[in-house]
Amino acid sequence: MGTSVWPWSIGESSAPVEVSNFDADLLPVEQVAMRAMHDRHCKCAKDLPPYIRDPVDRHMVFRRFLGARRWDVDRASRMLTRALEWRQSTGIDNMAFLPEKPGFVRGWAMDRVYGLYDRPKRVVDDMDRVFDELQEVYHGTWHKWDREGNPVFIERTGISDPRAMVKIAKEGAARRGDGTTDDQILLEGHLVSMELGCHLTKVATERLGRPVFQFTYILDLKGYKLSHLHQPILTALKGIIENDKKYYPETTRHAFVVNAPGIVTVAWNFLSPILDARTRDKIQIMGSNYQPTLLKAIEPANLPTWLGGECDCKGGCVP
Ligand SMILES: [Zn+2]
Repeated sequence: MGTSVWPWSIGESSAPVEVSNFDADLLPVEQVAMRAMHDRHCKCAKDLPPYIRDPVDRHMVFRRFLGARRWDVDRASRMLTRALEWRQSTGIDNMAFLPEKPGFVRGWAMDRVYGLYDRPKRVVDDMDRVFDELQEVYHGTWHKWDREGNPVFIERTGISDPRAMVKIAKEGAARRGDGTTDDQILLEGHLVSMELGCHLTKVATERLGRPVFQFTYILDLKGYKLSHLHQPILTALKGIIENDKKYYPETTRHAFVVNAPGIVTVAWNFLSPILDARTRDKIQIMGSNYQPTLLKAIEPANLPTWLGGECDCKGGCVP
């Protein structure tokens, strides 16, 4: 357990990050794969896509895609090409993910977060109304970082209301009147959160001077009822998971599920042995005895009091 170098002190220098030593923790064969990815995607390109234009972004993207394909350059390269096509067709690189009101981000130095932001300013549109309404019924936010510096997303799954979320998404879709579905509205909300999370890894990378390219999730199931298993939200969730597998691979560092009801833990103990070891090792499903595990990964100062830490953000750690 290292001591944290966060939070930033005021007036600290922000020297550009030197990416040449980012490979230091990789095996020689992985370093070769990183160079091969660079040769394939950058060497002959006159105009690099925005997603991999910046050397820091590029390093993190290559790591994620190579990691997802076990460092097989051919497979990782095909996967990245598809993701680049998707980004171009959706125009996501121009998506203004940083909200005017930084309610989705807790505990980060916002001058740094805005300082590294190089996309258009958010133009208020109907999606902001959807976000405002969703915030009443969905409780999740980016909240500080773990001991390795990975941004942490905390969701209070148990007190969120999936039926109300679907209703808001349906109304938002209807207002657009262009055939957009409620699933697409929910996916759009999720994409804003993913782009913001990726941006936070870059902020962390710049600060720590070493690559940070993953997130840690905490899902708190306290209050969870069987009625949460609402079919439309499960369908939307399935689409979101498929989307992330293709376009945001290897973004999860840890996923901690806490306050899981007995039935969920039993099911997990039964199913987890058949899962891929890499996936299984990242996910931990726990009942009420989760504090030691969370505190091993996250410093008390960065963990909300209601999860056994000492953080008590103004306005609530997770609004
Ligand atoms: Zn907090």
